[in-house]
Amino acid sequence: MSQLFKPWPPERRCQFCGKPITGKSTKKFCNTGCKDSFHNAEKARKNSNTYSYETVMRQNEKHLKVLSANAYYQQNGISEGPLLGQGVNLSVCVNEEVHLKTGGVIYWYGCYGVELPTKVGGNYMLHQRDESKVPNFKLGGGNYV
Ligand SMILES: [Zn+2]
Repeated sequence: MSQLFKPWPPERRCQFCGKPITGKSTKKFCNTGCKDSFHNAEKARKNSNTYSYETVMRQNEKHLKVLSANAYYQQNGISEGPLLGQGVNLSVCVNEEVHLKTGGVIYWYGCYGVELPTKVGGNYMLHQRDESKVPNFKLGGGNYV
């Protein structure tokens, strides 16, 4: 039977800088500087996530609007290269829908949607929908739920 030796009391380390902590067992940081830095970093991280997410939603909508104005793309769809090259970021989507005719999945960004190809190497089809039918959507207001 092996025995595991652990230091007692268990070694605690600062959640910000990783240095060992001495003193009260409830302490999580080696000093108030680390504590403040940790919470500031945490706050900045949360804000930047929200910001970049909303930015991606809004930018995708903008890019898709531009692409939809192109009659050729509107008719034939667009291949992945130019779509991503235009700055469309498909990693974020809160609103997806299955196209009843094609079975393809449409990612909606506000009023503009992009339908993922149903076969490898296929084109992405562009879609548009009526703003009044978009729930909780305000053009340019960044209000996507
Ligand atoms: Zn520290």
